Amino acid sequence: MPQLIAGNWKMNGTLAGIAAYAAALRPASPGAELLVCPPAPLIAPLRAALDGAPVALGAQDCAVKRSGAHTGDLSADLLAELGATHVILGHSERRADHAESSATVREKARTAIAAGLVPIICVGETEAERDSGEAETVVRAQLAGSLPEELAGQTVPGVVAPGIIAYEPVWAIGTGRTPTEEDVAAMHASIRAALRRQLGAAGATMPILYGGSVKPSNAASLLALPEVGGALVGGASLKAEDFLAIASAA
Ligand code: PGA
Repeated sequence: MPQLIAGNWKMNGTLAGIAAYAAALRPASPGAELLVCPPAPLIAPLRAALDGAPVALGAQDCAVKRSGAHTGDLSADLLAELGATHVILGHSERRADHAESSATVREKARTAIAAGLVPIICVGETEAERDSGEAETVVRAQLAGSLPEELAGQTVPGVVAPGIIAYEPVWAIGTGRTPTEEDVAAMHASIRAALRRQLGAAGATMPILYGGSVKPSNAASLLALPEVGGALVGGASLKAEDFLAIASAA
């Protein structure tokens, strides 16, 4: 399976900047699959500007409910209609800024799957949790709480919903710091074991992305680690040339 390089623009990007970004991505043919998750209002214009280039688009969140009286929320169905195929869920910034619990993330993942979107479910420990030796326990608890049984194909027998996990240590996001290669490999192995336990066969192949200060200079060594299925890239995805440099390291 080719690695997935996913860009998370967070609350950055403008309508005016779309054309140049798309123009840089259009001719690219990296060995990796590309996914860009801009703010939701930019999904459709970026889709149009990419003009058929093989770059997938995603959202950064969706609502639990699919429609109705929920002012300010974003429907997964509408995101899909705008051209999104993926949605990031449970990013640590949403868990912190919007008090999103793992139970809420699981509900959102269920909704995303029902709307035909691939959920990218984020997990990761804080610095205090790592320092106290609890990183793997915390991440396993987040996985246990955040993954819906649909991902294992338990609701429609034999049908396995696609999903993606992103391991993002909170203390590595936007800080320029990354865990050691040993720590990334150990956490990804632990996540794989948990996925197998929780989801059976589906958990054996579900991609596990690494996220947190991925940049062109460290991408090759992180992406070469066992069980690293790609990267979720924040700051370095905002410039098309940095994003493509990371993708060509895959
Ligand atoms: P960063 O963010 O690459 O800027 O550290 C990653 C993320 O939050 O997804």
